[in-house]
Amino acid sequence: MAIKKQKGILLFKTRFRTSSLIAKFLTESGETVSVLFKGALASTGRRDSPAANLVPFAVLEIIYYEKETREVQTGKSVAIVEDFPQIRKDYETQVVAAKFVKTAIIPVKEGDRYPEIYDTIVALFRQWDDITRINQDLIWAGFLLSILNFSGFAPAIHHCAVCQGQLTETGLKFSPSAGGIVCGNCPAPEDSINITPKIKDALVFLLSNPFRRYGKLNLSAKESRLVREIMEKFWNYHIGKPPHK
Ligand SMILES: [Zn+2]
Repeated sequence: MAIKKQKGILLFKTRFRTSSLIAKFLTESGETVSVLFKGALASTGRRDSPAANLVPFAVLEIIYYEKETREVQTGKSVAIVEDFPQIRKDYETQVVAAKFVKTAIIPVKEGDRYPEIYDTIVALFRQWDDITRINQDLIWAGFLLSILNFSGFAPAIHHCAVCQGQLTETGLKFSPSAGGIVCGNCPAPEDSINITPKIKDALVFLLSNPFRRYGKLNLSAKESRLVREIMEKFWNYHIGKPPHK
């Protein structure tokens, strides 16, 4: 049995027997880990009590004993290393933030590692105050695009998904079944949605910029909605489960 120290974010916690807690984390190495904190609820008065530190929307440091054959690891301690209390300030904000976290872990399969997905969630927390001032359709679209990209479902946005050729200035389409943007020379797949070069450029921008810069995109509310709509359709087609509403 090895002792492990990892940063992680809390996904879920539940009471186990009378005084213990089981918590599930997404760790910095990009995998989900379930940890049992024995007697956690019996020591709530202590400052270093796991019960007090198991909070959502914070970077936690979890120390636990790992036995690979076990589904639930044995926890030693948990501490808050970076907190984002503004996300927990009211119920509505928590619901919005939880939607991002729940959606991001859908592609994370047991035993797989996606450290970039952990990084994306932490980046979202760190930029939270800026994000609330930006068009939410764009934030959601960029978030889905990032998660798709890091989990191996990146849509083609730099070249044609069908012929792999350069993207044309006219006749662009976005097709989930074809795998992204389709050029003007290729026939339109049945599920394609017509897009302008501006929408194509917006997708490239969203993938290559931090969330807080999304406000620099000069898109109308209608264009922002379209960007969101095509990312949700792509997600539904490839991940199979709709993103959390
Ligand atoms: Zn083509």
